[in-house]
Amino acid sequence: MSHTFDAGVSNQHATYANLLRENSGPEVSPDLDISPKNARILLVDDKPELLSSLAQLVSLHEYPVVEALGGRAALDALQSESFDVVLLDLIMPEVSGHDVLDWVADHDIGAKVVVVSGDSSFSGVKHALTCGAFDFVKKPFEPTELLATVAKALAHRRLEQSHEAMEQRLQESEERHRFIVNNSPDLIYMLDRNGCFNFINDRIESLLGYQKAELMGKHYAELVYEEDLEEAKNLFNERRTGGRATHNVELRLKSRLPRDADRPFQTQNVWMELTAEGVYSDPQERTRENFIGTYGTARDISERKEAQQVINFQAYHDLLTHLPNRALLKDRLSLAIAQARRSKRRLAVMFLDLDRFKLVNDTLGHTMGDRLLKAVANRLQGCLRRGDTLSRFGGDEFTLLLPEIRTRDDVAVIAGKILDKLATPFVIDTHELFVGASIGIAMYPEAGDSVEALVQSADIAMYDAKSRGKNAYQFFSEEMNQKFSTRLSLERELRNALTSGELRVFYQPQVRVDDGRIIGVEALVRWQHPKRGLISPDEFLPVAVETGLITQLDEWVQAHAFAEIAEWRRAGYGDVRLSVNMTAHQLEQEGFLDRFIGAVESSGLTPESIKLELTENTIMQDIEVIVPKLQRLRKCGLTIAIDDFGTGYSSLSYLQQFPVNTLKIDRSFVGDIRADQGDASIINAIVAMARGLNLDLIAEGVETKSQLRYLRSQGCEEVQGFYFSRPLPASELKQLLRSQPYVELIKRGEEPAVPA
Ligand code: C2E
Ligand code: MG
Ligand code: MG
Repeated sequence: MSHTFDAGVSNQHATYANLLRENSGPEVSPDLDISPKNARILLVDDKPELLSSLAQLVSLHEYPVVEALGGRAALDALQSESFDVVLLDLIMPEVSGHDVLDWVADHDIGAKVVVVSGDSSFSGVKHALTCGAFDFVKKPFEPTELLATVAKALAHRRLEQSHEAMEQRLQESEERHRFIVNNSPDLIYMLDRNGCFNFINDRIESLLGYQKAELMGKHYAELVYEEDLEEAKNLFNERRTGGRATHNVELRLKSRLPRDADRPFQTQNVWMELTAEGVYSDPQERTRENFIGTYGTARDISERKEAQQVINFQAYHDLLTHLPNRALLKDRLSLAIAQARRSKRRLAVMFLDLDRFKLVNDTLGHTMGDRLLKAVANRLQGCLRRGDTLSRFGGDEFTLLLPEIRTRDDVAVIAGKILDKLATPFVIDTHELFVGASIGIAMYPEAGDSVEALVQSADIAMYDAKSRGKNAYQFFSEEMNQKFSTRLSLERELRNALTSGELRVFYQPQVRVDDGRIIGVEALVRWQHPKRGLISPDEFLPVAVETGLITQLDEWVQAHAFAEIAEWRRAGYGDVRLSVNMTAHQLEQEGFLDRFIGAVESSGLTPESIKLELTENTIMQDIEVIVPKLQRLRKCGLTIAIDDFGTGYSSLSYLQQFPVNTLKIDRSFVGDIRADQGDASIINAIVAMARGLNLDLIAEGVETKSQLRYLRSQGCEEVQGFYFSRPLPASELKQLLRSQPYVELIKRGEEPAVPA
């Protein structure tokens, strides 16, 4: 009997041990300790001789025993120590075996009580067993039977103990898992075979704002954003397992949480990355019949998605105006071209360049410039129809793609509308800003059949519009292309001219009105073109400015003129003053001052003998940078003249701030002086202004005697113009310096002016 019992214990024991191994750490011993030595046995009897013989018998089998003489001693022992097995006599005075049993039942002490009693009445045994006794051995007992019962009780006790330990570990482990699942940063879910939720972790509440309970039994589709349902279906409906389990499917789930503080109750979508794996009742047989559902996780990837969207937006939009940028325009244009080609329709590309933007930027600062650009973009958008794309091409350039166009007239109407809209001044802060635009238009297919060709044609047409006086639109034509390619080759040739010595410096005399002496010369550049002959600066300077070659060119002209004039002085041609023209480009260069002053010094000329000619617009282009540099040059002794005075933008208040010595009256005003008419109000005003500001005066473009006479009558001290001489090569000018022919001219020809 004991044999079969043992076998039973070890069988069960093996199963439990396996479970324990799976569910907890190595600290749990896989073996049940049922050896007698470690057992705690309490023997209870009120008869001393029975007690000691029982003790002898049990100790003989190596069980350590504690003896309790009577029920009271038994309760004392049970209260102070723990026991595995109690051998209990039933009939005892005062505290009976039943009392002890009751106490044991009440106190859940775990000890197995084996009743050893002469009272073998059914009711006695029944009561003992219902009160929780483990077994019953009748006195007088068979020692083997008793010992077998003790062993059985001990094995039960051990089994119970290990069971309890395992239960506790299971509970702890489950709590741990629950904790992990519910505190996971990810959603963890299970769907039944119909796609309805049967598990979802706590994360759902903080992530999407749903209560767990309300989602139980609901279909997943209720959570998925409509546009992504197809994707979701694909993810959940296929019974994916193992290698086919899906990972990292990105879709949007509907959230109830307010994401945007401004729109608190809006349902929004949260980008999630989902995994899903099919669950089968028999993992070995993944058949349709065995499919019981899906489980997986979902991770919030909205931040990454938002970052991606920002990056995408930035890649295809201009950050200031939020308009599409060049890249996006090119995308859309190539699409539009493909469509137009298929449907044999036309389309138009407009290239739009603001006319006076640079002036605003330079005089009022970049912040104001930026605000103006935004305002312009807004206003332009008001002229668009659905499907049109307005993009910022860069700087103050915009492009407009009009994919649905029938005739040129349609485009002309839109261009006219844009110019109209821009005609109203922009009011920003207290400033009223006027910006016109020059618009070039290229039509598909006439003006090109590729993105590049169309944009380039529109650009060329825009240049043409600008050169014809701005604030207008022009359609691209083949002649423009000619002009443009001439311009391109001009640029190439000019670069070459600079290095291969094709430039020349001519000098035009500046004559003192009083006595006709040549007191200065203006250096003017010429290009001795190998094929086209002598080219005047009006033809190539715009290209030099545009390409930035102007700085190199001016530095060359200046160095050449400095050397030449210094040589004249040494050769005894007199202390003639040299005027050189300058652009903002050169003045803005880093290191300009040191280089320029160095060039003057090394030529041997005194700074006082050099006059710089700048237009008002040159100074206005970058007042903050240019004015301090001019002040430095003034301090060194150089003098400064405002060239073409009266044609620029500057106001009297600016003029006072500029470190200027001389106003050079523009030749257009001089040309307005008709023979002896005596009324040239602009010249009068300039003369008055120069007197008021204590500035010298020189007039350019003097071609007639009457102009000279009038200027002289107004008190203009110096003149320059074809009346005396055209600009000449150095050798010819030297002869003029020698002969001073105008001294005689003035003496002979000039009478005092007679006011009309
Ligand atoms: P600017 O500085 O106002 O030079 C005077 C221009 O008027 C010269 O034209 C000259 O030939 C022309 N001119 C002189 N007297 C008369 C006249 O009586 N009647 C008429 N109709 N014109 C007269 P040019 O040499 O063709 O130069 C044109 C402009 O090119 C110059 O205007 C100046 O702004 C610029 N320029 C010339 N050389 C240089 C240079 O070396 N560097 C820079 N940055 N600009 C230069
Ligand atoms: Mg000049
Ligand atoms: Mg001039």
